[in-house]
Amino acid sequence: MSILINWLESLHQEIIVTSKCVRERSRKSTCGYCLEKCEHEAIVIKEKLLFINTTKCTMCGECIVSCPLSAIEGNINNRVFEKGSLVFDYNYVPSLKELLIYKKRGMTSIQAHQPLNKNWETVLFETNDQLQLLEESPIVVVEKVIDEMLTRRALFGSLQKEGKQLAKKHGSSFMEDGEG
Ligand code: SF4
Ligand code: SF4
Repeated sequence: MSILINWLESLHQEIIVTSKCVRERSRKSTCGYCLEKCEHEAIVIKEKLLFINTTKCTMCGECIVSCPLSAIEGNINNRVFEKGSLVFDYNYVPSLKELLIYKKRGMTSIQAHQPLNKNWETVLFETNDQLQLLEESPIVVVEKVIDEMLTRRALFGSLQKEGKQLAKKHGSSFMEDGEG
């Protein structure tokens, strides 16, 4: 598991193809999972080795999660976590492997303010199947309301504060008016 943890921790770096790539080990390899996933033609082959064209790369991270050897490292910039929960975003679909790794790292739920779309549902279903085989608890979907509640609370709190400040200010100006 430490390899996976190291890989996950590496997500805080730039996107790079490391020496773990099978093409580095064997020039005969035609592996291309990452190439197939890159919609931006940002992965280029030079003398059978892979390089990332940083001017085309959007740091979407699709190649990172597609590589079976976890040979690509870097930062997936569209994954958002809140309090140990992955925030649902219909702009991408996490892979089964990705969710399993997040789970191993302590993520227990997916936060969504709307129902998950079909693609997310499918991956989550398959991931929970795997987790069941591993005798681990499933990843659950929770409603994304905590923030709104906090925001509302914060809003009321600040309104109350402003109200008190306003009352104080007017109170003192009334006093001043009265004194004048
Ligand atoms: S998927 Fe991984 S192993 Fe295969 S070519 Fe890409 S980086 Fe190399
Ligand atoms: S991060 Fe996205 S854009 Fe960049 S090389 Fe990988 S798949 Fe292509």
